[in-house]
Amino acid sequence: MGVGKGWEGVVLKLLRGKDFTFTVTGAEDVTADFRRVHFTDGGLLAAAGESLHPTMWVRLWFENEGKPHQRAYTLVDPDREAGTFALEFALHDGVASRWARDVRPGGAIEATVQGTGFSAPAPAPERLLLIGDPASLPAINSLLDAFPETAATIWFETQHASDAELPVRLDPARHEIRRIARQDGGAALVERVKAELPELAPDPGSAYVWLACDTATTRTLTAWLRKDLALPKQRVNSLGYWRDAAAA
Ligand SMILES: Cc1cc2nc3c(=O)[nH]c(=O)nc-3n(C[C@H](O)[C@H](O)[C@H](O)COP(=O)(O)OP(=O)(O)OC[C@H]3O[C@@H](n4cnc5c(N)ncnc54)[C@H](O)[C@@H]3O)c2cc1C
Repeated sequence: MGVGKGWEGVVLKLLRGKDFTFTVTGAEDVTADFRRVHFTDGGLLAAAGESLHPTMWVRLWFENEGKPHQRAYTLVDPDREAGTFALEFALHDGVASRWARDVRPGGAIEATVQGTGFSAPAPAPERLLLIGDPASLPAINSLLDAFPETAATIWFETQHASDAELPVRLDPARHEIRRIARQDGGAALVERVKAELPELAPDPGSAYVWLACDTATTRTLTAWLRKDLALPKQRVNSLGYWRDAAAA
């Protein structure tokens, strides 16, 4: 996936409401707590065409006790010509995680494409400031791939010892990762980012932050970036990726 002309800020009007069936071709444990599942795309990538963009996600429909449950996952290495991509699952106890643990080649899942989008930061930032965790690792990797010339600092919240082994697509010449063990519902991450990010964003108008953590942490950091650091709205791209039921 490169930074082409077509995807900046594109709303996927053509795809809205369309349903696709993805078929599993294989799966592997990346770590004990993170699983990659490979799919054929059921026509998704051809339909997306130039709308394909970094951080692109789909809504998958999982079934549990006869009820549908919608969960969002990020496309990994979409290959339009081959009609294939992967999804990477940060594993915990949930309907999507259980499905990913058990699925075998030939398994199928329904998907809807709705809500996904991405606006390339303009002007281009000197450094990407990325904040996330294993659930947003696929999106972080897609951003590192899409902006190969840009420096990046990543604050990465970990939950398991195995998270240190996760494949972050780092270019040691340009990228730096700071790992923070999750504590107190994200408070440790918030503290580190508040202490360390300001010196990397001396000019709020040209800084660019992309963040996706649990919803409460995302909300706290977004408010701080906007109000305390005075970053303009278009320089902060944030979305809560999961709800911490333990902290609720
Ligand atoms: C736009 C978008 C893109 C996303 N892309 C990805 C992706 O590529 N890969 C990915 O793994 N996730 C991704 N997520 C997050 C994923 O959708 C959620 O984690 C989702 O809740 C998982 O569903 P589940 O059925 O497994 O667990 P749920 O039934 O939602 O929750 C079950 C339990 O697990 C806990 N839990 C849920 N998610 C997590 C987590 N990430 N870490 C720790 N505990 C958790 C809950 O607090 C609850 O206690 C994305 C979310 C969004 C909004």
